[in-house]
Amino acid sequence: MKRLLLALVCFSLLAVSNVFAADKLKLLIIDGQNNHNWKATTPILKDFLTGSGKFEVEVATTPPNKSPAGDWEKFNPDFTKFNVVLSNYNGELWPEGVRKNFEQYVSNGGGVVIVHAANNAFPEWPEFNRMIGLGWRGANYGDRVTFSGEGKVVRSPKNEGPGAGHGSQHDFSVVTRDREHPVMKDMPAEWMHVKDELYHGQRGPALDMHILATAYSDKKTGGTDAHEPMVWWIPYGKGKVFTTVMGHAEVSMKCIGFQSVVARGSEWVATNKVTLPVPEKFPTATATSLAE
Ligand code: ZN
Repeated sequence: MKRLLLALVCFSLLAVSNVFAADKLKLLIIDGQNNHNWKATTPILKDFLTGSGKFEVEVATTPPNKSPAGDWEKFNPDFTKFNVVLSNYNGELWPEGVRKNFEQYVSNGGGVVIVHAANNAFPEWPEFNRMIGLGWRGANYGDRVTFSGEGKVVRSPKNEGPGAGHGSQHDFSVVTRDREHPVMKDMPAEWMHVKDELYHGQRGPALDMHILATAYSDKKTGGTDAHEPMVWWIPYGKGKVFTTVMGHAEVSMKCIGFQSVVARGSEWVATNKVTLPVPEKFPTATATSLAE
């Protein structure tokens, strides 16, 4: 009897822990090639996402650059197992099968988060370019989208204005453009992001773009004198693709504002709502704030 009771207790404990595990969103980080230090930044992403209590994080690492085709056969993530796929990858084109699976995953309602140089990848993959809207491309690649000083959206055709670039790294102010959006709700209208590259002149098809935040790119720091998109999302089939061009290095990813944007964005693309609160130590209009 005792043994039966013990078995029952164990079984119920297992059931409870399974329920808790089922509550977590499954998030896959993809890395393996990047002109940035992905070996240092993936653990930061993984730590704060896991630390939010909302995600169970796995990492899929591609073979290194110029690996034989046989090595690539081992890279074939089952995207359908995940609620969110976060790309920290900027490298060689994935094999066709992986690309098709990824397109299907997003079409069917999968969530995607693109961080910083992940939007530099795949200029030759049209569906990826539709998903990200704007990427690190030359001025002749496609449209550019910025905000004017008056807050109006300005669309420039290809070859008008600069292509992709950034000035010197510095702390800069991020301006929320859609304060009602679930990801941005309760964040300050303006907040100071820690030292980062302020991307400008991003180019692409830029269709169905919902720009959530911008930053003023100052000529004094090598910028464009325009308000450049920092955070946006694009619907793709039933899925959502959420991009932030912030997150160049470890220090930029330690910014509590960045972490909150990525964590809340990940929850939102997966569930269409946000329950993660804006952290108390969120940066303000005048002060940056770093996670420990
Ligand atoms: Zn960078």
